[in-house]
Amino acid sequence: MTQGVDTDVDIRAAYAADASGLVHVPDGVARPESVEEVAELLRQASTDRFCVTPAGSQTSTTGASVAASGVLLSLQRMNLILDVDPIASTMRVQAGALVGDVKRVADAEGLLFAPDPTSENECTIGGAIACNASGARTLKYGATRQHVRSIKVVLASGDEITLRRNGLEKNTAGYSLAHDPVDWFVGSEGTLGVVVEAELALLRRPDLVIGTAVPFRSERDALAFVAAARRARDARFLDARSSQALDPRCLEYFDEPALTIARSADDQPGWAEGAAAMVYLEQEATSDTADAALHGWLALADQHHAYDDIRAFTSEGELRHARAMRHAVPVTMNERGARYTAVGGRKVSTDWAVAYELLHNAIEESRKLARDAGVEQAVTYGHAGNGHPHQNYLAFDAAHLARIEHVVEETLKMVVRMGGTVSAEHGIGKLKRRWLSLQISPLAIGVMRAVKRELDPHGLLAPGNIF
Ligand SMILES: Cc1cc2nc3c(=O)[nH]c(=O)nc-3n(C[C@H](O)[C@H](O)[C@H](O)COP(=O)(O)OP(=O)(O)OC[C@H]3O[C@@H](n4cnc5c(N)ncnc54)[C@H](O)[C@@H]3O)c2cc1C
Repeated sequence: MTQGVDTDVDIRAAYAADASGLVHVPDGVARPESVEEVAELLRQASTDRFCVTPAGSQTSTTGASVAASGVLLSLQRMNLILDVDPIASTMRVQAGALVGDVKRVADAEGLLFAPDPTSENECTIGGAIACNASGARTLKYGATRQHVRSIKVVLASGDEITLRRNGLEKNTAGYSLAHDPVDWFVGSEGTLGVVVEAELALLRRPDLVIGTAVPFRSERDALAFVAAARRARDARFLDARSSQALDPRCLEYFDEPALTIARSADDQPGWAEGAAAMVYLEQEATSDTADAALHGWLALADQHHAYDDIRAFTSEGELRHARAMRHAVPVTMNERGARYTAVGGRKVSTDWAVAYELLHNAIEESRKLARDAGVEQAVTYGHAGNGHPHQNYLAFDAAHLARIEHVVEETLKMVVRMGGTVSAEHGIGKLKRRWLSLQISPLAIGVMRAVKRELDPHGLLAPGNIF
């Protein structure tokens, strides 16, 4: 077999699954420690025509980081943080560095790496770039894309290129899709090249963060609160003189079952007993603005009939605790789903999004579709401030899975009719390919294929992802 590729049965089995529940045993596993080794592997792949699927920590929920054929290329051993420049506010890292480690190193310099996928302590920066990962704070900071300044990529040919954002404010040279090639690779799910290094843009760490958990009597009230908060934020954004004190960096929704799971990770498990929904929000502040912000949130909560039992999280430890409660929801649902993979079931997870004003309607419609199909309601939670919930269903076996996927497909059609997207966060991978065309026209898919052909003419990289 090819140099640097391990074909040991146990090693291949160790890389056969990701968080999606999909299992594909690769023909071999490569675990390079240098850019040169990655380049050599891809040169061999190009010569001998075998496929290579890059992988970080394999936390993909879409089957994007398992290889149905060929070599699984794990970047985990290339995990160095190469340097931090506190003056330029940048950090250079190898692709296998964990997002959580990047954030901790930035924090020690008084800086912030803003993207915050819930999986940040497990997932790699290469994976986050390849998926354009986002998180709760995407509401304020956007997804990973805008925090990447430069990348080093090994192409399917084995050639190594370094791409840097040009920072141009005006540019009319040809098609805009060629203006910033960094963007070809961000979100490309391993299909266009292997990211081996990146230079990340860091921000100044905020002085203070206030977290607030607001329990509600109904889903309707909770989502009306979110929409009002977004409107207040946008008004402030449009008019800097606005007196509005509300400037959330995240607006996260929990329906009743999601709240029950979050409570199981809480130090006050009896908190907000009887609540039908909860919104967790964070706002950055200074010691001068914190009180006004908190009062603003309490007033808005009151207008939307929230329970009085509102909790504030202000210290580092309390905010970490709140984050752990949020993380408990996907982790618990993944664990529950994993119980059924042996019999053809799994967790089925959606990441559709609509305009935030339409979120309540969209969730209501999806609940009706599930009811009509006799499918148990999804656990629904997540980034409501971006109009982007996660709906997690549990399929107990293959027949149940088919019924759930029918509900998901009908939900996605409804979402697209509302002008939304079939995937706002986790990408298409292998599990959502059939739904891409609900949203993206044949013409646009043709343009994507042309880009793929140009960069990977033999279709060797991450086969089965996206297309
Ligand atoms: C509990 C849980 C919570 C999650 N929460 C979030 C969330 O809040 N937000 C979010 O966006 N996602 C979330 N995810 C999904 C996933 O964690 C992210 O997409 C993450 O960025 C993937 O990183 P990874 O290192 O695990 O990549 P992998 O899963 O190994 O790979 C993901 C994709 O990236 C490609 N890839 C990986 N490394 C490279 C590289 N160096 N070069 C080129 N391609 C590469 C792979 O081929 C694959 O297509 C969650 C997953 C779990 C299990």
